[in-house]
Amino acid sequence: MAIIVGFPRIGAQRELKRALESYWGGKSSAQDLQAVAKELRATHWNHQKNLEYVCVNDFSFYDNMLDMSVALGAIPKRFRALELSGLELYFAMARGAKGVAAQEMTKWFNTNYHYVVPELELGVVYQINADRIKEQYNEAKQLGYKPKISLVGIFTYLALSKFVDSSSFEEHYHAIKKAYIALLKDIATLEPNAKDIVIQCDEPIFVRGHDSRFYHLIEPFYNELKALGFTLFISSYFEECSEALAILAKTNIDGVIVDLVYGSTKGLEHFKGSKKKIYAGLVDGRNIWVTPLAKRLEVAKQLQALLPSEQISMSSSCSLLHVPYTKANENKLPAKLHAHIAFAIEKIDEILLLESAFKGAPSNASAWAENERISAERSSAAQGFSLPNVASKRSKPYTERIAIQHKLLNLPPLPTTTIGSFPQNPDLRNLRRDFKKGVISEQAYNDGIKDYIRECVKLQEDVGLDVLVHGEPERNDMVEYFGEQMEGFAFSQNAWVQSYGSRCVKPPIIYANVNRAKPMTVEWITFAQSLTTKPMKGMLTGPVTILNWSFVRDDIPRKLVCMQIAHEIAKEIDDLQNAGVKIIQVDEAAFKEGYPLRREKVADYEQWASEAFRIATAVAKPETQIHTHMCYSDFNDIMDSIQSLDADVISIECARSGNELLKAFQKVGYKHEVGPGVYDIHSPQIPTTDNIKRQIQAFLEVLPKEQLWINPDCGLKTRKDAEVRPSLKNMVDAVQALR
Ligand code: GLN
Ligand code: ZN
Repeated sequence: MAIIVGFPRIGAQRELKRALESYWGGKSSAQDLQAVAKELRATHWNHQKNLEYVCVNDFSFYDNMLDMSVALGAIPKRFRALELSGLELYFAMARGAKGVAAQEMTKWFNTNYHYVVPELELGVVYQINADRIKEQYNEAKQLGYKPKISLVGIFTYLALSKFVDSSSFEEHYHAIKKAYIALLKDIATLEPNAKDIVIQCDEPIFVRGHDSRFYHLIEPFYNELKALGFTLFISSYFEECSEALAILAKTNIDGVIVDLVYGSTKGLEHFKGSKKKIYAGLVDGRNIWVTPLAKRLEVAKQLQALLPSEQISMSSSCSLLHVPYTKANENKLPAKLHAHIAFAIEKIDEILLLESAFKGAPSNASAWAENERISAERSSAAQGFSLPNVASKRSKPYTERIAIQHKLLNLPPLPTTTIGSFPQNPDLRNLRRDFKKGVISEQAYNDGIKDYIRECVKLQEDVGLDVLVHGEPERNDMVEYFGEQMEGFAFSQNAWVQSYGSRCVKPPIIYANVNRAKPMTVEWITFAQSLTTKPMKGMLTGPVTILNWSFVRDDIPRKLVCMQIAHEIAKEIDDLQNAGVKIIQVDEAAFKEGYPLRREKVADYEQWASEAFRIATAVAKPETQIHTHMCYSDFNDIMDSIQSLDADVISIECARSGNELLKAFQKVGYKHEVGPGVYDIHSPQIPTTDNIKRQIQAFLEVLPKEQLWINPDCGLKTRKDAEVRPSLKNMVDAVQALR
């Protein structure tokens, strides 16, 4: 029978978000929060009632990795010292409390979901706690469901952890393993016969391929776990995991759940003739399109060469956490698009339909026929499309361009600038919202935005910055703003997916050919430029970032969509330069997160992603200075791509890592200009002139002054006015002292 790997927990109307924020704000009690959660789980299980099992412990108040840390008792010392327990301790670890910093958060593989990074230290006694898991298991059983317990697998857990001390992976493995086994022994008490307890260990780390730290441990560990008596499945997703499958086939586990959408059947040949089960993840858990069921059925049928069909069942490719809840609440999308999408609830129906077709005949013939019609419609829409032939290279090499730009711009040494956005307060957000709703006139809206730009320019002139920005007041979000102005994008009303904790994002949907109807930013940038004699930096979002932060049509290759966007951004750059804008920044905040998880796919991504950036920017005349911005903390493995972007200036996040990060640029002999962030914009603290001076001096040890720009880490959107002015003033003062 069919299964899913996990279900979204935020609720159809983001009920969990509201309940959490109300609890955090002191407006409701822990009991209230628990009640909402219990109700949500019951609703979610009801949607899963026709599957083989309902998912238990996929629900979380914040994050499953954090849940695992708490269940294992991996609680860092600084939180133990707070002497909190239950939800208070849990949220302290997630969000910080009483002056104690929260645990770090980072992206879950190449998704936009963030997990709380476990901090492991040796020598602590791990006190396991299975209460939450057991409670939910019993809850599901009481409602008459057959539960399947999701757990983060031990290797994924460890590989994504931060080790506080310098002990080895192996040492931490032994410590965590003890806790893990103890936890499962406790879980085993749920039933008189542990075989009746179904466990799914998620090991997405396996898609990264062989890892000498733990590959030799996979077989003994899972055999030991299986020896506790459970019905035990291992799931892995987002890519193929053939290396691990070869090992898992030799263990005593009961089966595997594999991603056959982003992965392949590679490695499953090891299961030939085995007694294990294969759950074929054939319905995309990461994207929103209707599944081409007949095509996926073909893939499922290939597996019959390995195992009897009773041992094969259908699944989602990964947890449905990464797709929105249901399309039933969308009534503003174009009708054809609405017919072409499937969110979590609709995907469960697809999985069931596929399962029935695989086992004999589709349970619902008309639904199957409709699916075939839609699949055909989707694949024909993709035909007959070709990209215009445009340059993907600037007309002059960097050394010539930069000389022309220096002459034209005539900036002082160590030029100062910002990354783009300035603080956004509720008044500004209301202005945008009222305009969207039609409550205020276009005139009133434009006046409001222009007032903001005036103030923003004045502030920058007051503090003495060299290259100014307009402040991005017209933008709610750096991708949405551009998506809304291009054909081919659609915006849902309710298609929220969890990003972290209670935070959700509503990614734009790219469903058709992308086309910019008219200039998108020229009016605001030229207005801003008219207010000052200093150069005004135009501000665009790059094609790769727009792609990576959207739900992307899958009827044509992803890279083609990226190229389409690149062509439209190129038009915008041309309009800006023709309007007299001399510096244009093309943000690629999500360039790195689009990197494939498997090594062998990296070169292809690097090739087309950097080509897309070059197509977007090649239109720039030699005298137009192209900046880009990337906010990450590790460049070492992507330096080749950075070089091949051929941007004149790149600003990067650096403030939290001294000058370490910058060394990556030095190491490869990077010659273009670089603006390493001199202070951390994620913190409300105002950096002192001295601090910034020291930071700049550290940068100067790595790169010559001719190559350096001075700027904050990232946009200032989330900061307060009162923080921004003194911070920028101190930054300018520090530079002046050094000049
Ligand atoms: N220009 C954008 C801003 O300043 C860049 C944001 C980002 O890189 N995340 O807000
Ligand atoms: Zn940034």
